[in-house]
Amino acid sequence: EEQKQFAEQRAYDLKKAKDELEEYSLKLQMSSQYKTDFLANMSHELRTPLNSILILSQMLMESNTEMDSAEVSEYARVVNTSGGDLLRLIDDILDLSKIEAGKIEILTDEVNVTEIPQMMRNLFDPVAANKNVMFNVLTDPDVPAVILTDGQRLQQILKNLLSNAFKFTERGSVTVRMEMAAPEEVPDIQAEEGVLAISVTDTGIGIPLEKQQIIFDAFQQVDGTTNRQYGGTGLGLSICREFTKLLGGALHVQSEPGKGSTFTLYIPCKLESDYYGRVDDYGL
Ligand code: ADP
Repeated sequence: EEQKQFAEQRAYDLKKAKDELEEYSLKLQMSSQYKTDFLANMSHELRTPLNSILILSQMLMESNTEMDSAEVSEYARVVNTSGGDLLRLIDDILDLSKIEAGKIEILTDEVNVTEIPQMMRNLFDPVAANKNVMFNVLTDPDVPAVILTDGQRLQQILKNLLSNAFKFTERGSVTVRMEMAAPEEVPDIQAEEGVLAISVTDTGIGIPLEKQQIIFDAFQQVDGTTNRQYGGTGLGLSICREFTKLLGGALHVQSEPGKGSTFTLYIPCKLESDYYGRVDDYGL
């Protein structure tokens, strides 16, 4: 009897080990597939702007009197934008490797929240006009004028969220809303002080529920295949999430496919009277 029990236990353990091994090997296969897709996508993302730069600079070099000055400056503009795209890509890769090495420095300073709407407008009004998408920036009067955080990182997070919002939205609107959050809204951050919530809502393609967590992992895209419709490398949101963690905040997503998405960034902030001022209603 004892021997039978022993044999049964052994068979059970073996089966468990086999299942675990299979699961692990599936995970490995998947991560190797992600890596292959990522490398293909990354090469594509590097090649596209580089090709434009090479072809257009060649044309400019060979240009003779046939090219009018409007054409010359249009080509030069595309060369310039392509260079900017390449630089952003390389900065993303550098940021990610610094994050992984634990080498990101957070420089906390007084950040003037009242300047954020104008900063975003300067960057994204042209994009909105180009795509015929409305761009709204709303600030709740309760929002303090100044908070203590790393302004540079905060800007990077917002830029990434807004680039995504415009990228995945063809009609309708992109709306940024700044307001103070109730502590129960953000259980995962220390909210004994105040919490500033900045949400970016779009009316774009949306994200299926089963993908809403993995998009924050590096190299992950809803459509990560090489023949996908939208470009990108899947690095932006993982950088956003890591920066957010370093700022002591949280980043949440709510989305419905075909309707749109809302990404909400929660940032803890001090509420001493020194830092507390009323902001003019901005666009409300
Ligand atoms: P990238 O934009 O370079 O692909 P991100 O990490 O910024 O990388 O985003 C990962 C994926 O999450 C995107 O490829 C897309 O599938 C999805 N995603 C992010 N933001 C949005 C959005 N506003 N609407 C729809 N899908 C989004």
